[in-house]
Amino acid sequence: MRVSRRNVLRGSTAALGAVALPAWAVPRRSGALQVLPLLDAAGPFPLPAHQAFPGVDDGDWARAERVDPGAFGPDDVWRPAFRCFAVRRPGGRVTLVDTGVGPAGSPASGWAPTPGELPARLARAGIGITDVEAVVLTHLHSDHYGWSVLPDGAPVFPAARYLVQRVEVSGLPADDPARSYVVEPLRGAGLLAEVDGRCRVRGRGGALTLVPTPGHTPGHQSVLVEGGREEVWITGDVLVHAVQLVAPGTAYRYEADPGQARRSRLALLASARRRRASLATCHLHRPFVTVG
Ligand SMILES: [Zn+2]
Repeated sequence: MRVSRRNVLRGSTAALGAVALPAWAVPRRSGALQVLPLLDAAGPFPLPAHQAFPGVDDGDWARAERVDPGAFGPDDVWRPAFRCFAVRRPGGRVTLVDTGVGPAGSPASGWAPTPGELPARLARAGIGITDVEAVVLTHLHSDHYGWSVLPDGAPVFPAARYLVQRVEVSGLPADDPARSYVVEPLRGAGLLAEVDGRCRVRGRGGALTLVPTPGHTPGHQSVLVEGGREEVWITGDVLVHAVQLVAPGTAYRYEADPGQARRSRLALLASARRRRASLATCHLHRPFVTVG
């Protein structure tokens, strides 16, 4: 079947079935703002866990498995989740944070489980495509921008501004598929909004703050959701596995700058602890975790 915007966005909710959510998967509220986890996909990572996170001792692996048992497959297989988040304001306007692995044929198809289910998840949550007024891309890895555009270049969310750090775009290698697949089509459609550094977006119900958290990539950013006393940090890939939560010094093999990534991770975790904010993570099986 040809992948067009219309047949992708028809959104088969039936495919997802009716599943009761465990308590830790229920959407979080930050005052009047609702933070909804939207699982796009889950599946094995091409590299064994011990190679993706070298040098971790057995005690830290055991602690990580207690936090996120779903990430541990047999024979050292790492099974990440691939998740996006929607922040819904009173009245229904939505900011989407990341767009997952995307449809069959997206750049993530070479290594991640595609097609993802984001369109069906949005439909099931009652979020229409044009309810999405902003898309925050934490960074330009293929498992985070997959549903930003379709393979023919059509923006999936035509009413949205796509917010990405300028240094993330300028730092892309010339041959990175993100350039042709997502940056150029969005720029051509006038929807790409490159931001510099910290950026606070106020609106009904509270504020979202885009905060640079570099290291995983040069222009990586996370999102602080402030709608009330309970705040939420949407981390992006500041941590990609529970082992980086229980042992935050742990480097991930694909961090562009491991030292900077570690500093960003420690700073974000310290902030979460201070603010008593939940963490909303892309790749853990629990969408929300709290920092002890
Ligand atoms: Zn990722």
